[in-house]
Amino acid sequence: MTLYDRTLAQMSRRELMRLAWILGVGAVAPPILTRRVLAKPIFDAYPFTLGVASGDPAPDGIVLWTRLAPKPLDGGGMPMTTVEVEWEIAADERFRTIAQKGTAIARPELAHSVHVEAAGLEPGRDYWYRFRAGDEVSQVGRTKTAPPAGASVDSVRFAVCGCNHYEDGYFTAFRRMSEEHFDFIFHTGDYIYEGRADGGRSDRSRLRQHNGDQLYTVVDYRNRYALYKMDRDLQAAHASAPWIVTWDDHEVDNNYAGDIDQDNTPPEIFVLRRAAAYQAYYETMPLRASALPSGSHMTLYRRLQFGSLIDLNVLDTRQWRSDQPCGDGSHTNCADRLLPTQTMMGAVQEKWLFDNLADARAKWTVIGQQVYSFAYDRIKANPNGQYSMDKWDGYVAARDRLYNRLVETKAPNPIVLSGDVHQHYGADLKLDFTDPKSRTIGTEFTNTAVTTTGDGSEVGSTWEATKADNPHIKFHSNRRGYIACTATPRQMRADFKIVEKVSVQDQPARTAGSLVVEAGRAGSFTD
Ligand code: FE
Ligand code: CA
Repeated sequence: MTLYDRTLAQMSRRELMRLAWILGVGAVAPPILTRRVLAKPIFDAYPFTLGVASGDPAPDGIVLWTRLAPKPLDGGGMPMTTVEVEWEIAADERFRTIAQKGTAIARPELAHSVHVEAAGLEPGRDYWYRFRAGDEVSQVGRTKTAPPAGASVDSVRFAVCGCNHYEDGYFTAFRRMSEEHFDFIFHTGDYIYEGRADGGRSDRSRLRQHNGDQLYTVVDYRNRYALYKMDRDLQAAHASAPWIVTWDDHEVDNNYAGDIDQDNTPPEIFVLRRAAAYQAYYETMPLRASALPSGSHMTLYRRLQFGSLIDLNVLDTRQWRSDQPCGDGSHTNCADRLLPTQTMMGAVQEKWLFDNLADARAKWTVIGQQVYSFAYDRIKANPNGQYSMDKWDGYVAARDRLYNRLVETKAPNPIVLSGDVHQHYGADLKLDFTDPKSRTIGTEFTNTAVTTTGDGSEVGSTWEATKADNPHIKFHSNRRGYIACTATPRQMRADFKIVEKVSVQDQPARTAGSLVVEAGRAGSFTD
């Protein structure tokens, strides 16, 4: 039976998507059937198994991403040749008004991923996009361009998320995010975790299993990204809004710093693994060609503008940072954490950011990065582990340079975004965290994990023991979820969303608390 011998009602979603492309309409095709010869299939199985994505919105363009992978968990399963992938981006969900279209080349060197930089688009509006290869058609993604440069904007809504360990729970937070149709979604890193199945530990019963062993080669990393990207909730979140991504440590290896890993691997050997990981990251993410890896390096830090409302600097605090002091972990009395040579960004990136801050003109100066920048004194919970060395607490001079630069440049209304710790925190940023009366220079929203560490609990014991010592921390939750932020010319609002259980599928999300910052007034208040 061929595609055209059946009625629409009998067709699979995949066949409907094909037909819709042929007819030049959206996924919901009108009941008109015309017989047409299809190109000879070049795939044994459906190639768009990893969904679609868009990213890094500009006023006039956006990145569109997909990857052809008929055997996603086994290297991709593509023939080792280039394959043409047609793409189109439309002004309406039914693809009646095509704004731009073209053909991209999926190459074996990049695992048959495509990164289309669609241009010539209108600012601040919704678009829909899809791909076709051979006679196979992808799902449809919704995306949105950034507002016109410098234009006044009533509001921008964005999500902050990260730390989605596949084995620790279901990606319900991504499903709930997809329903909010954000203007953009910022991911703070730990998009994958590099451990083998069960985290190598027999004492943990996992809800879902990793594929394969620890990740070392580019194929290992590709297969792991594929496992994560086959998750329906994650695909839905990508198809709902443009993403702005950065990485943290687990995209390569736990707590690595620059070319140093935690296993004393010689740096010249470790960077081989890092290069494999960075390549797979580039292949998987909706990034511009400017991020294409070169050797063992990749330029991920970048700046995005949302009219006169948000100036967003995305940082990479992994690739160029100095080693965690005092052998990493948590320490009390680690003098080396104060060394002026400690760096989170490296000299080149730090200068780039500091130059950007000097000409920041938008209402909100947002710094999107990985680990919390505020001081978190946990001595009451952990007498020998007052500060965590992997955070900016291990890089105090670098934090002082950043905070002082924010003051010196008068960059408007600084907001720092971070993740990594798998709990929500909202904190005011102080020039001197040991003095509660010290000047507040901005506010930080630290997002909890999508899943990592599992369901969590109503209150965390570490937080209960330490909150009196950290009056600058205004909000905490030990549940999983994400942050929904709303920026307006008057306010920046963070709604800390939580999902009660990630061990059970399809739970609702609710707002556990909210922090608001008023423009022109440093410091946040609960709402
Ligand atoms: Fe994490
Ligand atoms: Ca991390």
